[in-house]
Amino acid sequence: MQAPRVLSLPEPCLVVLIGAAGSGKSTLAARLFPPDAVLSSDAYRAVVSGDEADQRATRTAFAILHRELDRRLALGRTTVIDATSVTPFARRGLVRSAAARGVPAVAIVLDLDPQIVLARNAARPGRVVPADAVRRQLADLGRSLRLGVLDAEGFAAVHLVRTPAELDSLAVTRPA
Ligand code: GDP
Ligand code: MG
Repeated sequence: MQAPRVLSLPEPCLVVLIGAAGSGKSTLAARLFPPDAVLSSDAYRAVVSGDEADQRATRTAFAILHRELDRRLALGRTTVIDATSVTPFARRGLVRSAAARGVPAVAIVLDLDPQIVLARNAARPGRVVPADAVRRQLADLGRSLRLGVLDAEGFAAVHLVRTPAELDSLAVTRPA
């Protein structure tokens, strides 16, 4: 078994999970953080339209997510963003919001083998994202990683997770 990898997170902080659909963001968030700390784009899509897959609800869903994020950051509450965040555009607003409130932003990147991500997406109970969309997300993420842009986006730390074993063994500590 892989030794646990323990990420030491500042308190408070903004945690930006980064990964294609099926990479395990929601599962990880549920394991490591209390439910109220996790803001999920899928959950807000469901609130807006009754359907977490409804892409027409995306704009409104993200408007709510950003409003809620700013509310929590203003209160100094650690917050986790559960959305793909695979493009610089998607990450920019999140990092800016955190910076405006003086809260450090930490990225956790789920960079698993594309075959594993596609298989997990396809096998997921409930919503399966079209494989083409997942491939686009994987390509966007790959571009961000290859170009090294993540490191220049203002994150206090960028943590890369590359294998299912690393993902399983990931833990966090926060100062008391
Ligand atoms: P998300 O789209 O990034 O939020 O990914 P999910 O958390 O929904 O995970 C996608 C699918 O992979 C789900 O069916 C999960 O149960 C499964 N999954 C997530 N993490 C793990 C893991 O560590 N091990 C295994 N075997 N399956 C996982
Ligand atoms: Mg999810």
